[in-house]
Amino acid sequence: MYNLDKQEILKKYFGYDSFREGQEKLIDSILKGQDVLGIMPTGAGKSMVYQIPALMMEGITLVISPLISLMKDQVSSLNQAGISAAYLNSSLTVNQYYKALQYAKAGRYPIIYVAPERLLTDSFLEFALQAHISMVAVDEAHCVSQWGQDFRPSYLKIVEFIERLPKRPVVSAFTATATKEVRDDIIDILMLQEPEVLTTGFDRSNLFFSVQTPKDRYACVKNYVELHEEESGIIYCLTRKLVEEVCEKLTKDGYSVTRYHAGLSDAERRNNQDDFIYDRCRIMVATNAFGMGIDKSDVRYVIHYNMPKNMESYYQEAGRAGRDGEPANCILLYGGQDVVTNQLFIDNNQENQEMDPVTRQLVLERDRERLRQMTFYCFTHECLREYILRYFGEYGANYCGNCSNCLSEFEEADVTKEARAVIGCVKAARQRYGINVILDTLRGANTAKIRQYRMDENPYYNACSQVPVYRLRQIFNHLLLKGYLELTNDEYTIVKLTANSGELLSEDAALTMKMAKEQPKKTVEKKEKVSKSGGTAAVLKEEDEPLFQRLRQLRTEIARLEKVPPYIVFSDKSLVHMCILKPKTKEEMLRVTGVGEHKYSKYGEKFMEITREA
Ligand code: ADP
Ligand code: ZN
Repeated sequence: MYNLDKQEILKKYFGYDSFREGQEKLIDSILKGQDVLGIMPTGAGKSMVYQIPALMMEGITLVISPLISLMKDQVSSLNQAGISAAYLNSSLTVNQYYKALQYAKAGRYPIIYVAPERLLTDSFLEFALQAHISMVAVDEAHCVSQWGQDFRPSYLKIVEFIERLPKRPVVSAFTATATKEVRDDIIDILMLQEPEVLTTGFDRSNLFFSVQTPKDRYACVKNYVELHEEESGIIYCLTRKLVEEVCEKLTKDGYSVTRYHAGLSDAERRNNQDDFIYDRCRIMVATNAFGMGIDKSDVRYVIHYNMPKNMESYYQEAGRAGRDGEPANCILLYGGQDVVTNQLFIDNNQENQEMDPVTRQLVLERDRERLRQMTFYCFTHECLREYILRYFGEYGANYCGNCSNCLSEFEEADVTKEARAVIGCVKAARQRYGINVILDTLRGANTAKIRQYRMDENPYYNACSQVPVYRLRQIFNHLLLKGYLELTNDEYTIVKLTANSGELLSEDAALTMKMAKEQPKKTVEKKEKVSKSGGTAAVLKEEDEPLFQRLRQLRTEIARLEKVPPYIVFSDKSLVHMCILKPKTKEEMLRVTGVGEHKYSKYGEKFMEITREA
């Protein structure tokens, strides 16, 4: 349709020089008329895989997508790149909808995004049966599978729709979910015909992973946002209450912050989400309710204020950082209480109430096991990236050099004395209390509860008064993980001894555990922005920082005028690249990554007014 080859489209419309892993192969298969299934992690560039062939094939590509916000974002991106596209979903008024359909019939859009619920409606079918539909691209294809967490019954309509078309189009499906059950379901349920199945690596090498166990989580967060004031970031909390608390503190401390959780009205949620996406607020504090369908590509950090319930959730949430391929930080702040909170969530999961007892038990056990794996992530001393990849069935290099474990030093600490005190205390209290009572006793706390339970008479009262509470919690968790203690899953979580507990009480027992060396307080320097383009890492020099800020300001102004998020005008990566190349002519500007012909003609001159002066 556009009479260009794939390479030319990539450059001319999207402004990129080369394809990423997997993209080219899938595009070629589609162009040959073969079905495809692309399993690629978030940010890998799945959309390009169907958008480029869509522009090369005769006829229309329908993209089925579950989320309205995502469709809107994708269509804005395409329009910005000079490609005509539209979406058909419930966010349109009846008039808008029919107008869009009319344009579609007139052949105005090579790409149309449509919600699965629409497919079998009369008005849409009437259009589809007459149009020439060359491809159906199914985004978030795992929604067809009941194995996943995102099953959508409306996705089952896709096959029926395809069957009703006069000529079967190419079907392409995309997901970031890698498990075998889901993959097989997609192929079966969507009835893909001898598809090219391609899985690209799950590694996101631009993400820096780190686990910290700070004494004061809020202070830790505050310190971080202080040093990264200009950047967008998400802070995930486990509960609504914490979201409120952290958001309020940050607001009081003068940061640009908003919040998101299921307890807010729809209107407020939408509003706050937009504030974040349009850069009106820098920081989003949210529960895990936030993020589905958020395409914001320049999120520079994701901090988990608490440990989430499993690695799947963690990697998905953390993966919202750095979708533009620029360096980004994923920091998990661990606290011992997180295990207990998650355990409670698992045990009280309302969704499981309707299952039969056997299934429910299985699901419970699976969830507990996942929580254990998540907890191990917080305690492991090996490469964090390696741990993640192994969890998802891949192998890493054992050393990535870009995670807190690869970069920090550990020491083997002897914790025998503390371990004995913990076990002795639980035993002497006849295994009747929860973690906090035990820890308070060991620390010699003088609270009403301790006195009421007469724990001040426990022989281990005050036995660990010298050990900081966070350290005591680490030791306590180590005992849980090693099976020297366990927690009950009843109404109250109670600490119990296990068959192994006794071992530690014998004379010659010894227990050591790796602990991070206490770091002397660092004065953290501002990290330089690094941009990878053309294979060589390009770094924003300190002297170019003012230039970067001016370009950014221009981007914000344009975004406001055009009512699109700033990252849709140009990504951070493009701005960094402009700072490096300082283009003065059209030719030079087109060399900047992410600057295609169309964007050049819209914005090139404006941005060059700034780079020419530099
Ligand atoms: P996914 O849907 O897989 O999560 P997207 O399609 O949203 O990922 O792409 C993520 C980002 O990567 C987008 O900003 C996109 O423009 C960019 N991108 C995609 N392909 C390339 C490429 N070949 N070169 C450079 N950037 C790319
Ligand atoms: Zn590592």
